[in-house]
Amino acid sequence: MNNSDLIIVRFGELSTKGKNMKDFIRKLGSNIKLALSDFDKLTYDIRHDHIYINLNGTNFDLVKKPLSLVPGLLSFSHAHAFERNLDVVKQFALEMALKSNKKTFKVFTKRSDKLFPYTSDQINREVASVILNKIDSIKVDVHNPELEIHINVREDVIYVYADKVDGLGGYPVGIAGKALMLISGGIDSPVASFLMMKRGVKLEMIHFAAPPYTSKQVITKIHDLIHKLNIFQPDIKLYIVPFTELQKKIYEVTDRSYAITIMRVMMLRIAKRVATSHKDIVLATGESIGQVASQTLNSIRAIERGIDIPIIRPLATYDKLEIINISKKIGTYEISIRPFEDCCTIFTVKDPTTRPHFDKVDEFLSRFDFNSLIEKTFREIKVEHITNEVKKEEEF
Ligand code: ATP
Ligand code: MG
Repeated sequence: MNNSDLIIVRFGELSTKGKNMKDFIRKLGSNIKLALSDFDKLTYDIRHDHIYINLNGTNFDLVKKPLSLVPGLLSFSHAHAFERNLDVVKQFALEMALKSNKKTFKVFTKRSDKLFPYTSDQINREVASVILNKIDSIKVDVHNPELEIHINVREDVIYVYADKVDGLGGYPVGIAGKALMLISGGIDSPVASFLMMKRGVKLEMIHFAAPPYTSKQVITKIHDLIHKLNIFQPDIKLYIVPFTELQKKIYEVTDRSYAITIMRVMMLRIAKRVATSHKDIVLATGESIGQVASQTLNSIRAIERGIDIPIIRPLATYDKLEIINISKKIGTYEISIRPFEDCCTIFTVKDPTTRPHFDKVDEFLSRFDFNSLIEKTFREIKVEHITNEVKKEEEF
């Protein structure tokens, strides 16, 4: 490694965004800086077509993992910058081929400086012939090369790189607005959160706790899950709702088979109240069609009664196995499967309805002044900031 090592970052999907592109790149640049803030030697050059990160002696392998987890980044490469001397480039390409031990290769040259004395094709041929002359066991394969040697001739330097590391794709977090995610501590809601973030949505989170029926470990679990999601969004606001009183009231005034339905209605109403007072544009949940009685299409329709805020359900069509696979990849699975009592499991009912009727829902809702209790509960909400570093508590 030398001091002119750098990372070339590409941002595929963003380039289709026309006039919004500047904002995308600025956001992506600042998200990358935040994700890599532990590496203090890095310097950045943010341009319209790429972001260049100068390593200044930092080990690329250490930067690789956190960089690959920044949403909005298509791919990146560890590149070496040279003065515009073709002999030096040839020598370096030869070393790359020797070190790689690959059987086939292809050279790809791009010239952004059209005045450079060699054409792209000439550079490809000259570099390839040096490699072919020195290494007997390697051949050119133009269709499916094992080793790709990329040479970019720019106005001031020549970049050379081999591998491309895949990024997550999607959009930089924050570019698509802000949403309030209902997070439960199960497997689904952290995965749904990740998918929202990957689409560029900044999340705030809300959790309904029912102390003393739910233990402190549940909150620890929620913290641990959100810490994992901090990789994608370094600062996440968490609202913790004391839900016990409301839940008890629901069980007092509704039939057992409707208790879960009414509980969902209350969760959404409180979430909407929080969302509107904190400028979250939509709600999001980890619901998946048909997973349980409260997630049939009929139930979904019933629990949204009277809620005039859009609810995004990224996992609506996902199978449990697909969801588990993603949760393993993002590191939330092991935390999610820790045993815990959710506020829903505490008051489990044997025969929850899968086809709630509107008139019955309305009737149960009219049996008590739920609006006042929602307001009281809303005032008792606790707020925390879960960040990469410390957890700060704050007044609501
Ligand atoms: P998950 O769906 O996260 O695996 P779960 O399966 O225990 O957890 P469900 O009963 O399927 O949860 O609830 C569906 C969705 O409702 C959750 O994905 C989450 O968005 C929301 N939800 C359920 N319980 C809570 C809670 N205690 N606090 C906040 N949101 C909740
Ligand atoms: Mg679920």
